[in-house]
Amino acid sequence: MKEFELIRQIQQATSVSYPPGFEHGVRLGIGDDAAVLELPAGQHLVAATDTLNAGTHFPIDTSPFDIAYKCLAVNLSDLAAMGATPRWALLSLSLPQADLGWVRSFSEGFMSLAQAHNVTLVGGDTTSGPMSISLTALGSIAPGNQLKRSGAKPGELVVVSGTIGGAAYALEMLQAGKPVPQRHLLDRPVPRVELGQLLSGYASACIDVSDGLLADLGHVLKASACGARLDLEKLPHTAVLADLDDMVRWRYQLSGGDDYELLFTLPSGSRSLLAGWSQQLDIKLSVIGEIEGDEGIRCVASDGSSYAPEGSGFEHFRQKT
Ligand code: ADP
Ligand code: MG
Repeated sequence: MKEFELIRQIQQATSVSYPPGFEHGVRLGIGDDAAVLELPAGQHLVAATDTLNAGTHFPIDTSPFDIAYKCLAVNLSDLAAMGATPRWALLSLSLPQADLGWVRSFSEGFMSLAQAHNVTLVGGDTTSGPMSISLTALGSIAPGNQLKRSGAKPGELVVVSGTIGGAAYALEMLQAGKPVPQRHLLDRPVPRVELGQLLSGYASACIDVSDGLLADLGHVLKASACGARLDLEKLPHTAVLADLDDMVRWRYQLSGGDDYELLFTLPSGSRSLLAGWSQQLDIKLSVIGEIEGDEGIRCVASDGSSYAPEGSGFEHFRQKT
């Protein structure tokens, strides 16, 4: 494998142009045995890593541009869910062949998001093997400002950003060989980095929705030792889900995944704060329920009837009788 050619290509194609006065903190980048990075004074390091395997985490026909974009996006989403500022990335590439064209397009996809967040690629590994992309994102945060899964309290609002269910719907259409109306929802999730930073200091708990709303809300509830009511008609959805029957749409929204929106909890008096953030960031922020003392998630329809989603795979699901 022309390993060094590939590395040179990646290095050249991923150099970020920083805004004036921006301190990137890279004391030694790609080209030595390890990178040397300087955190802003007094800040803590926040680290997240995620691997994408062809056929499992992205459809095999996904373009190299979109694979790179998604790999960085899912990692930035993890940093966003902590309230951190992304700074650097490490990239491990396992590729079946040394295809410079593939790597060029991959680098463009990486840059389309890295440039937007001033994320510098500072190292990685390049090997020959089945296609697999592993990325480690490094960021910073002021001590104590991290948003954790624990901390939600009864009476608080449950809020989600953007819309949910669209990625799962796109994947299902793709797998069924049907036209996919909004494939970008699956391939190009938007990591809510700015929102995460705004929430730091306000939200009592936060997680990104990667495995599905019920599963990820379940993680927050377990860590916070409480339960929640979810108001099904409040779940925000994209236009392509609008014509589906409620039950079908709820299934995508509750048990689908890959949305990479932030799910967080706020004190009950925070609605005007939310409205301000929504306007400031031009992001939809929907209150979808309330934290309760009783364990489990109670899904309630607009007529007050409760709904038990099938196959949610969520062990802590419990219905009020
Ligand atoms: P080593 O043998 O010391 O692990 P390598 O030959 O694997 O070093 O890599 C040489 C340099 O290129 C290192 O700085 C490494 O971090 C960087 N590098 C290798 N592969 C990648 C990649 N896919 N993306 C970014 N940097 C990479
Ligand atoms: Mg070495």
